Amino acid sequence: MLVRTRFAPSPTGFLHVGGARTALFNWLFARQQGGQFILRIEDTDQVRSTEQSAAGILQDLRWLGLDWDAGPVVGQGKNEYFQSMRLELYRQHLQELIRQGRAYEAYETPEQLAAMRAEAEKQKRPFRYRRQMAGRAAPGAAQPVLRFEMPWQDLHFKDLILGDIRVAGDEHDDIVIRKSDGFPTYHFAVVVDDHAMGITHVLRAQEHLMNTPKHLALYATFGWPAPQHGHLPLVFNLDGSKMSKRDRTKAARAALQAYARQEQDALFEKLARRAALSPATIRAFMARQNDDAALASKLAACIGCELPEIDVQDFRRSGYLAEALVNFLALLGWSPGGNREILSRREMIEAFSLEQIGRTSGRFDRKKLHWMNGEYIRASSIEQLGAAVDRFNEVTDYPLQHADADTRRQLLAMYQPRMATLVELARNSVFFFQEPVYDAAAVAQHVLQEPGPVVLREIETRLKAVPRWDRENLAPVLEHILALGQKRGAAAQTLRVVVSGGAVSPPLLETLLLLGRDKTLGRIARHLAAIRREPPVPAHGSDLS
Ligand code: GLU
Repeated sequence: MLVRTRFAPSPTGFLHVGGARTALFNWLFARQQGGQFILRIEDTDQVRSTEQSAAGILQDLRWLGLDWDAGPVVGQGKNEYFQSMRLELYRQHLQELIRQGRAYEAYETPEQLAAMRAEAEKQKRPFRYRRQMAGRAAPGAAQPVLRFEMPWQDLHFKDLILGDIRVAGDEHDDIVIRKSDGFPTYHFAVVVDDHAMGITHVLRAQEHLMNTPKHLALYATFGWPAPQHGHLPLVFNLDGSKMSKRDRTKAARAALQAYARQEQDALFEKLARRAALSPATIRAFMARQNDDAALASKLAACIGCELPEIDVQDFRRSGYLAEALVNFLALLGWSPGGNREILSRREMIEAFSLEQIGRTSGRFDRKKLHWMNGEYIRASSIEQLGAAVDRFNEVTDYPLQHADADTRRQLLAMYQPRMATLVELARNSVFFFQEPVYDAAAVAQHVLQEPGPVVLREIETRLKAVPRWDRENLAPVLEHILALGQKRGAAAQTLRVVVSGGAVSPPLLETLLLLGRDKTLGRIARHLAAIRREPPVPAHGSDLS
């Protein structure tokens, strides 16, 4: 039997990291079995689905390196792997159920259904919609939905991960299979498509567990063999809360509240100017009137707060390598055994097995991911890192974008031992491209305080005398600079702060070589001028040329 798995996202937003984990497990299993991995876009929700979201999901899957054997073609719009292009197929199968007498029209409006549910609650019994409740069409009634009459007996199946699952006959609901807009529901389309596409194994999140008996009832009614189902443990934050898109808006709101306490009334006006938003928009966000993730990101950036990454693109923007993220996601619920943690893609494929997927939820340990990314960065070649920076630059906007190939190579060599994410490289290297934002405390301590000014004048003299700005000439001069003053290394720290803005930077020799003579001396001169209380010399040139 040829194994065929699938990933079937609904294009209603960005690809969540939990969704990426589901895709990865399906991909790993298919690759491990020498089978096929299918991608299908479940866009039957006409209101919430967008083509833009579908395109984003494809892009994220490609970035992760999860290639599909059949599915949408990137850049070509919709094809038959979009459910909205398969309506005729669903219509035919709906007709089939009507012919068999297993589907019936139901006319209740959402309000009526809510009232029925409330009534059941009042009587302390669960609400289950069954055929005999179906009312008749009232004159002028809205378009009916079509429901599937579930069987009455207990249903049972063997989950690939969770083992025996049973649902008692009196717990079934007659599910809606066609909505009033004529579109099939998820439950119906998923069954028709998994059958039509020859899917043999369905691996999906545990939140779908209770949908599976419904789906199996549909397979049985059509007389189709059902794929095997396995439900993956959910992904939780370390504190045990569910990892959700809301985490970002929640974190942004909390940061804004803390900021508001500090800044009090002027907050909204000031922030609104900075973010080019109206104060009312910010107030509405803080009052939880919307959960707009883009707004959360924008406001957080304005007050310098980092939000937790949730969607795949958040991780990409934070400078995680696709390989490291894939490795990390693979271990969320699966274990290769023997405490192994860093595995290449090939090793993961070889070691993957459904038996080794746990039943309990995976905890998303950000510190571990950060560590793992650092390990991947250090194990990469400069060429591989360069390619990763290209992908990173596509979704971010740091001055690193403007580095020519040679500069980038030097930066990567310099930062490779000391960064865990590409965003650390992008942020920490800004001073090579433009005037640094000075850390006032570091300037006070290392530059303004004696012997800082004296030492800086001495440094200037020595550096000006370097005949050619290359390693050979600069290295001995730096050795002398290290020895200046009473405390060895203190003068180097003065120089470091002046050129880089802070007390931490890559080794000075490499830093000065890359920064170049003009920028180095220019920054020293400006500090000396400030010390002499002269008007600061205007900054010149903001690129590396
Ligand atoms: N479109 C569904 C979702 O995104 C797919 C569930 C499934 O894999 O069956 O949750």
